[in-house]
Amino acid sequence: MKHTFENIKQLVDHCSYCVVCKKYRTVEINVHDPDDLLEVNYWTVENNILSFSMILNDYSRPEEKLRDDESRRGTKYLFRLDINIINNLYQYTISGSVCELNSEGKDKTKAGLFELSFYLYAVCKSCSGSVTSEDVNIHLDSSTIFKFSLDIEDFYIQCEKNNYRIHYRYLRDVIDIYKIDKKNNNFINSKPLRLPIMPIDFSDQAKTISQIKTLITFS
Ligand SMILES: [Zn+2]
Repeated sequence: MKHTFENIKQLVDHCSYCVVCKKYRTVEINVHDPDDLLEVNYWTVENNILSFSMILNDYSRPEEKLRDDESRRGTKYLFRLDINIINNLYQYTISGSVCELNSEGKDKTKAGLFELSFYLYAVCKSCSGSVTSEDVNIHLDSSTIFKFSLDIEDFYIQCEKNNYRIHYRYLRDVIDIYKIDKKNNNFINSKPLRLPIMPIDFSDQAKTISQIKTLITFS
């Protein structure tokens, strides 16, 4: 059961709220690119536009990447990526000159950047419940992003006797349930109880506990 979303806004909204504690949590966005060409200066969300300001290193000669003197390590461009988080369209600029998508894009070819990806991560300070999205992939010869989904998600449930960690692994279609000793916070069962993925109601603690106990009893 993939946990997917229509757009980045829905993904951010999901990640920024802990349903167990009913509290908001800070979302981190981490960029990575396969060829290690980018350095992220900052990112912002304003008027439904997610903007990344990055330095794009042009290592068109591979030996430049290895130079000790950073100022001689190839050409640096300012790379700005603006993504509409509602309609999934994006555009980017390199060194201030707008490169329309689907155009020849000379600069990007020269710099060797064809794709990049980022993922969202958030952790709740109250319960330690966390969520990590799958990579959101951006191919610079396209103009739309298609895939928004979760990779893993953790819920921590406090019970009278023991606590539980409910670990969703969306890509493997399983939930791993760990029993946690309240006294020392260690896992009681070294191997988790593995179940096929299914929805669990985390909005009401009593319901969640009763559902988990039923699942454990009948497994
Ligand atoms: Zn929480």
